[in-house]
Amino acid sequence: MDNAVKDNLKKIFGFNQFRGNQQLIVDNILKGNNTFVIMPTGAGKSLCYQLPAVSKEGTAIVISPLIALMKNQVDQLNSFGINAHFLNSTLSKSESNRVKSEVSAGLTKLLYVAPESLTKEENIQFLKNATISFVAIDEAHCISEWGHDFRPEYRKIKSIISQIGDNLPVIALTATATPKVQQDIQRNLQMEEADLFKSSFNRTNLYYEVRPKLKNDTKKEIIKYIKSQKGKSGIIYCLSRKKVAEIAELLQVNGIKAAPYHAGLDGHVRIKNQDDFLNEEVDVIVATIAFGMGIDKPDVRYVIHYDVPKSLEGYYQETGRAGRDGLEGHCLMFYRYEDILKLEKFNKDKPVNERENSKVLLQEMAAYAESSVCRRRFLLHYFGETLDKDCGFCDNCKKTKETFDGKEDLLTVITAVKETNQRFSMDHIVSLVRGEKNEYIESYDHDKLSTYGLGKDKDATHWKTVLRQAMIFGLLEKDIENYGIILLSKKSESFLKAPYPVKISKNHNFEEMAENVSAE
Ligand code: ADP
Ligand code: ZN
Repeated sequence: MDNAVKDNLKKIFGFNQFRGNQQLIVDNILKGNNTFVIMPTGAGKSLCYQLPAVSKEGTAIVISPLIALMKNQVDQLNSFGINAHFLNSTLSKSESNRVKSEVSAGLTKLLYVAPESLTKEENIQFLKNATISFVAIDEAHCISEWGHDFRPEYRKIKSIISQIGDNLPVIALTATATPKVQQDIQRNLQMEEADLFKSSFNRTNLYYEVRPKLKNDTKKEIIKYIKSQKGKSGIIYCLSRKKVAEIAELLQVNGIKAAPYHAGLDGHVRIKNQDDFLNEEVDVIVATIAFGMGIDKPDVRYVIHYDVPKSLEGYYQETGRAGRDGLEGHCLMFYRYEDILKLEKFNKDKPVNERENSKVLLQEMAAYAESSVCRRRFLLHYFGETLDKDCGFCDNCKKTKETFDGKEDLLTVITAVKETNQRFSMDHIVSLVRGEKNEYIESYDHDKLSTYGLGKDKDATHWKTVLRQAMIFGLLEKDIENYGIILLSKKSESFLKAPYPVKISKNHNFEEMAENVSAE
């Protein structure tokens, strides 16, 4: 790398060294290569395109979905002495003309653009005539319907980039990368050949825990928990504005310095509450997921989920706001299955595709909560990463749990996957081994297979647990192209040839746990 670039890291951004993959990524962009960056929130994605933008000739276009955050980012760059602007619907005609003249003059190093503005014909024409160094697509997961915040305009980006210039280097960045979403992004931007830089999603300083959610006791439990934290900073996430207001008030009347945050509050109240939290006038912010984007408070010591999030992506992002300083953070979720059902009901008016996708995301969430597998292993597996060992730093690792030898059951499900030619999802495999009759089983003649009904003495939950753990252990795989279809892995073949004992842990039974706690 050019020394001048390294100097800029220190001189302009004030950082002594690169973090993680940053240097490799910056290098790759400087070479003009298409680049795909997957990095957890807070790891430092912005620098990856900001530094090359400063070092290259011309203007880098940064496509970013959040108009609200654009101004902050541009202000921050300006304060570093970098010429940066944004182009979005909040600008007046004369303001946007001024921005354009700076771009034309070759002064602007970074131009932030909202996807809606990018699709405007006059802007495309304008950018066509400007000198563009590269295009960065922030929050690239918005391209994918399989992600958790799909933005239809994102799907037009590729064709617009091609109109703006031939062979403009593209850098896509996201903090969401289940293998499915990753595929979708690459395909949609036609950047399958791009160099991929994927950082680990393992946040080793975060302790993950799930407790049963009980009607009144959970509130008491939260109050007690917060008091035991003695003024440390924390966030409580709730699903609805109403619940946010209720919990914030409950904490306040119990002598806790808490403030609410949700999109329904007046702008100035919201800003005040957020500032009070940042300045430690209040210890706890009770919030909907509207809170947290772009907020960088390094010493949040705990994140409590009073309600279950809609997806593991959301959960990971929200819990990720704890322990940014690298010190311990506690991620505590209160769970009951009814909340999953409630969320499913909210989705009933969505178009079929979206509804089905939301349902899959929710079922993954429920599976995480109910599983007694190491939380970190489960979570990282979801993001396409493999941990070979349990982490020792989550509730499931700390607790002794009920396990059984899964050799026979694994043999059954792996054989079932093989017998059905690796073309079916979990639900079908479960129906098959349980010997159910339904139209699929009948139309495929699956009731003639050797594994049909082999596991009818055990319930569907049991078989799902076995299948999930088989996947976490690499004994089976999921097809990332066809969400949900279960495939054989290398390990399955060797397992079928010579089966060996595998410890499977039983799921938590939250209903039973709730009863026991209530009885105490
Ligand atoms: P992301 O977009 O991945 O969520 P950001 O780009 O907002 O993350 O960066 C998160 C924080 O890390 C910011 O406060 C940023 O200033 C800081 N940061 C980024 N790169 C470095 C670095 N090389 N050294 C020190 N701090 C860094
Ligand atoms: Zn663990």
